[in-house]
Amino acid sequence: MGLIRNAIVQGCEAVDAIHARRRRSNGLLDLVIVGAGPAGFAASLTAKQREMRFVTLEQDSLGGCVFQYPRAKIVMTQPIQLPLAGTMHMRATRKEDLLDFWRDVERRVPLPMRYGERVETILPRQGFIAVTTTKAEYRANAVLLATGRRGSPRRLEVPGEDLPKVVYRLIEPEQYAGQQILVVGGGDSALEAAAALAEAKTPSVVLSYRGETFARAKARNRARIAEAQLGGHLRVALNSRVTCIREREVELEVGGSRLVIPNDAVIVNAGGVLPTGFLQSIGIAVETRWGTA
Ligand SMILES: Cc1cc2nc3c(=O)[nH]c(=O)nc-3n(C[C@H](O)[C@H](O)[C@H](O)COP(=O)(O)OP(=O)(O)OC[C@H]3O[C@@H](n4cnc5c(N)ncnc54)[C@H](O)[C@@H]3O)c2cc1C
Repeated sequence: MGLIRNAIVQGCEAVDAIHARRRRSNGLLDLVIVGAGPAGFAASLTAKQREMRFVTLEQDSLGGCVFQYPRAKIVMTQPIQLPLAGTMHMRATRKEDLLDFWRDVERRVPLPMRYGERVETILPRQGFIAVTTTKAEYRANAVLLATGRRGSPRRLEVPGEDLPKVVYRLIEPEQYAGQQILVVGGGDSALEAAAALAEAKTPSVVLSYRGETFARAKARNRARIAEAQLGGHLRVALNSRVTCIREREVELEVGGSRLVIPNDAVIVNAGGVLPTGFLQSIGIAVETRWGTA
């Protein structure tokens, strides 16, 4: 229950520690903050309060994990002071209200947030740290990783995946009203997304999964899929894989044959890539312990 609060406290404390050992201005950024979840957002407010030169880089949007919660989820938290913003008084609140509170703070306190920009490498150079993202390179004296533990969604790595119609989660089934949708994946998230779209009477939903059965998913979600298929709004393509995504269609390989279907949007729910590899690639030692106190 105290996790969001802990993230906020730690974000603030980390920036205070970086500020305390700040070098005199050398023309570089004082700080690059990676992630705009509760920790990265609180860190950004602290950096602003301390008048540091910084940017915050977020691969997605404000809120981190909270943004990803299911619609209307009740978030349990504890009152906490946010720098420059005042006290967050809420204890049990809807996800949307918490995000609105943070967005309102962001409107009142202009921050150098760069959304939709994923950090790919962080390398020590002579006298600075180079942070390379999907869009630019930044040079800073310090980097704060506020990346959480969720990692990044697994990509399909197929041609056309960078089209704006490809997303990695379903938030509102209603936004796809009247459209032809492909959902990719065989776990609970994929099945829930496909079922929710079919239940919202989306004209055509195809669920593509490379496996033979949905053995990994909960029985309740498998039952929802079976029911949606009977309702005629959902087609399931097992043993299939996406080979190409185009503006108006997608290409699948199903059991060795090529299938082209009309398509308006693709929702990929193929799991996530843990941040461990990213951390190791930037020189952080990760030690795995099994049952050790
Ligand atoms: C389903 C669920 C329900 C929860 N319910 C509660 C609750 O009721 N109360 C509570 O207190 N806690 C709850 N938690 C836990 C809470 O959400 C997390 O502890 C909190 O969000 C952690 O904050 P964070 O800022 O450290 O990380 P995150 O919220 O994970 O944010 C990290 C951010 O970093 C970004 N990022 C990662 N890698 C990169 C990169 N390479 N480049 C750019 N950006 C990157 C991510 O996109 C993300 O936005 C819940 C968690 C889950 C999963």
